[in-house]
Amino acid sequence: MSIVLCPLSFSMFPTIPYIQSCFDEYNARFFASSLPPIPIKLSNARTFLGKVTFTRRRSWLFGPVRNENFVLRINTRLDLPEELVQDTILHEMIHYYIALNHLRDTSTHGRLFRQHMKRINDEGNRHISISYRLSKEQIAALYPERASN
Ligand SMILES: [Zn+2]
Repeated sequence: MSIVLCPLSFSMFPTIPYIQSCFDEYNARFFASSLPPIPIKLSNARTFLGKVTFTRRRSWLFGPVRNENFVLRINTRLDLPEELVQDTILHEMIHYYIALNHLRDTSTHGRLFRQHMKRINDEGNRHISISYRLSKEQIAALYPERASN
């Protein structure tokens, strides 16, 4: 029997403990628990559903560039289907995995990103995408001033 930490419901505003439990579950299931803990922040931004930010640092002049100070940001402005929140967390975890391991990809969502996306979609019956379509109502919630014009 498997323990489901992230049961599906129709829509939700994610919380940090919720995102944390999804992260832990997916880390074990899809990344062999290789991802170190990452600070999670809730975001009210209008420009993304999720985002992994980090700094690139060179410890000495000709040394290798290291990515560090990772932060996972998940948007809580919108009431989203839970599956979309989960797929957003997974999408960002792929970015985290690639940046953490300093892997080279052909673009932001290049060949390597898509390989992991396909693997997780197939293994986990997920629907991670590189672009998410929002409904008119969700866009209106993001941009109320446009809707009222
Ligand atoms: Zn992305």
